[in-house]
Amino acid sequence: MKTTLNVLKIIDGTTVDGPGFRTSIYFAGCNHHCPGCHNPQSWDLNGGTPLSIDEIMARIIQNDFDVTFSGGDPLLQIEPLTQLAQKIHESGKNIWCYTGYKYEEIINDLSFIKIAPYIDVIVDGRFELALRDTSLLFKGSSNQRLIDLQKSMTVGKPVIWQSSF
Ligand code: SF4
Repeated sequence: MKTTLNVLKIIDGTTVDGPGFRTSIYFAGCNHHCPGCHNPQSWDLNGGTPLSIDEIMARIIQNDFDVTFSGGDPLLQIEPLTQLAQKIHESGKNIWCYTGYKYEEIINDLSFIKIAPYIDVIVDGRFELALRDTSLLFKGSSNQRLIDLQKSMTVGKPVIWQSSF
């Protein structure tokens, strides 16, 4: 079982990838290739630096911040990502995960079902240049959705995350 993830960078204390101060981890690899992508250098799955789950956790627990998975598309490394997500969840931190896949494309996928219990919110869908809107909260284009994953799985359809601030 793979226990390393290819990581492009880790930013501590960002406020743009979800509510509050967060540790954002940018994972290598993306197969969506959206025109206008903010980060095309992230597309190579073999890019970045291989870090063990324990090394990433050591960085995450240095502070009280919650965690965001970004990239790239973090779900391309879903097996070790699931192990990491479980540890983060058990530490009491919440997790937001950006993905170019739509909720409906992944919600019944057997690999995604394993990681889903540990993810609080997914920001789903490809970046659509024609729908780009810089005023949107935590997303780049209006087709993307901030989905409360736990509520969605309870009711069996996507439930939009509601900000409490
Ligand atoms: S999903 Fe995100 S990282 Fe991947 S190509 Fe689209 S905008 Fe870029």
